[in-house]
Amino acid sequence: MGTDKATAGRLDRATLRILDRALARLDAGFTGLPPADTAPLAAEGIEAVMLEVATRMRDNAPLFHPLYAGQMLKPPHPVARLAYALAQWINPNNHALESSRASSAMEREAVAEIATMFGWTTHLGHLTGGGTMANLEALWVAGRLAPGRVVLGSSQAHYTHGRIGEVLGLAFEPVACDRKARMDLAALETRLAAGDVGTVVATMGTTAAGAVDPLPAILALRERYGFRVHADAAYGGYFALGSSLGDDARGAYDRLDQVDSIVIDPHKHGLQPYGCGCVLFRDPTIGRFYKHDSPYTYFGSKELHLGEISLECSRAGAAAVALWATQRLLPLMRGGVFARALDDSRAAALALHARLAADARFAVPFAPELDIVVWAPRAATAAEASVRSRRLFDAAADRHLHLARADLPAAWFGPEAGFAGEPGTVTCLRSALMKPEHRAWLDRIWTILDAAGRDALGGAAR
Ligand SMILES: *Cc1c(COP(=O)(O)O)cnc(C)c1O
Repeated sequence: MGTDKATAGRLDRATLRILDRALARLDAGFTGLPPADTAPLAAEGIEAVMLEVATRMRDNAPLFHPLYAGQMLKPPHPVARLAYALAQWINPNNHALESSRASSAMEREAVAEIATMFGWTTHLGHLTGGGTMANLEALWVAGRLAPGRVVLGSSQAHYTHGRIGEVLGLAFEPVACDRKARMDLAALETRLAAGDVGTVVATMGTTAAGAVDPLPAILALRERYGFRVHADAAYGGYFALGSSLGDDARGAYDRLDQVDSIVIDPHKHGLQPYGCGCVLFRDPTIGRFYKHDSPYTYFGSKELHLGEISLECSRAGAAAVALWATQRLLPLMRGGVFARALDDSRAAALALHARLAADARFAVPFAPELDIVVWAPRAATAAEASVRSRRLFDAAADRHLHLARADLPAAWFGPEAGFAGEPGTVTCLRSALMKPEHRAWLDRIWTILDAAGRDALGGAAR
């Protein structure tokens, strides 16, 4: 695809010029001060080091490219990258207002927009370093409200929930999943009936397979058994804006406003650099649990300091600036540009699923609920299918198509797979088609996968 544009290449460089103009505007806001044009330490060495850094950074899979269709990785939008970089010239700390007047206000606005996306007109919430920290905060509050009681999540809930339980001293117990990777309701009710459950974690988009737990039924059980519901929407939260979800997923997202707390990761589907998670509570009065009395951090303002409602102390104001800028350019509204890009990701996943399902070399356990596709090569045993998965993974990577692998229950597969009914897991292929470009690239992705399959699995069985 030759082009003579100045930006020809694979990485966006054209938008970098905007940073210099924005920096001049920022500088002009401080003209009352005497100039401080001192050179940085060892300025003369910066370029050589930067070129060395660029060389070192070549040793990465092309995470930014549409042919990277493996793990949950999506490059930040240029506006997020630039806003984050611009903020570095101030380097605000969103712990206290004194150290972050502008970026704390931007954090509160951006987080309120996320709460609105979930249908909440009031909330308490803030950004975190990521989804793990955000879930830790949500479950810390859950534990304060129901000390010593058990936290339940599905066996496909994120692996960090068990670890968070250890940190908080709360028992985390996994509940079995059905064949579509969702929390099994009969298993959940059996466990609830045994008693002592304080919180149920509903995963809105599991990390491995993108499955959405049956939230309406979980909320109905809350009526009967009384427990707190936390929605872990770290990966899937933005699909609340989607217009192409299946009925089950749509029904779950439509009830999200009734949970007690929500976690969403802007650094997953929200086009942000890493270091941006978000936790939201429906009841703002839980802020009382964060109360502390630091003698030195909060002078000078009667307004709420974000450090008063966060477990962490210092937090990157730049992360809030980047998120604010992104939501300014791409508002979180149904039918908007951002929402349509999510629909494109889902369309790409459905198209890949359809091709795999029509191909006699492969077995697919279920259609994607969001934009993650999982599948396995057919084989007589799960062990053989696992070997073939690894071979296909390598053959695709040799052709610059980067997939992911996941060990998933063999029981999810139907009889056509050849190994159905075996206990234990099978190594599957997994593709998170979360880049907006994936829809347009799907034909090329399939052509490569088809050729890799001929190499790795033998025969063009169609
Ligand atoms: C990624 C993920 C997490 C962990 O979030 P980090 O940002 O990686 O710390 C938790 N839950 C789910 C469902 C996830 O997909």
